[in-house]
Amino acid sequence: MRQDVEERYRALRSAIDEEARRDGRDPGGVTLVGVGKRQPPEVIALAIEAGLTDLGESYLQEARRKFPLLPPVRKHFIGHIQSNKAKAIAATFDVVQSVDRAEAGIALGRAAQELGATLPVLLQLNVTPSDRFGCRPDQADQLAEALRGQASLRLEGVMAMGPLGADSDAISRAFELAAKTLARIGGSTLSIGMSGDWREALRAGSTMVRIGEALFGPRTDGRHT
Ligand SMILES: *Cc1c(COP(=O)(O)O)cnc(C)c1O
Repeated sequence: MRQDVEERYRALRSAIDEEARRDGRDPGGVTLVGVGKRQPPEVIALAIEAGLTDLGESYLQEARRKFPLLPPVRKHFIGHIQSNKAKAIAATFDVVQSVDRAEAGIALGRAAQELGATLPVLLQLNVTPSDRFGCRPDQADQLAEALRGQASLRLEGVMAMGPLGADSDAISRAFELAAKTLARIGGSTLSIGMSGDWREALRAGSTMVRIGEALFGPRTDGRHT
């Protein structure tokens, strides 16, 4: 297991670097976020020891159980935000990628202020019908303005999911819409690309890929509380 995940981390990182260079981009401009949902902390710890610097988690309870068992890592919340959990999310994570409505942003802003912190956030965009969450691109300007109105938040860019099970052209179109929306609202982080579509994402300008199964292996079944 040790060798598996360490080797997968190195192979994935160099595949990303190679694709970035092929697209004429600086590989240093692409952050690899490992997605640890429903993955055992022992396996995640090995990837961190092998060099993984950023970890994404989708479920607050699961993350709070696992984080104390891990070496230091930058922690990204990528799951759905319930406003009544905003304080715990702001206290647990370094970055929140999934702000898809003003109400969630206001709750996070208030929580960060109480903690005396500035919380980096991304605006979650919905660029595909297969995604249940996310702000419509035509409403992104309004949401960006609401987030910039929160003194304790720092809006750094956008996050989006590609269409699941779609062909490469449809995936690229969705990612290009995300890139275009980021260019309009402003920001430097374009968090697009997962295990099955990170190459299309890099070609569309991704600066941050979020990879679960291609790094850690198949997720365990069962509940994710
Ligand atoms: C699960 C998840 C990922 C990673 O998915 P993989 O297909 O395992 O790479 C990335 N982003 C979000 C928001 C997720 O929920």
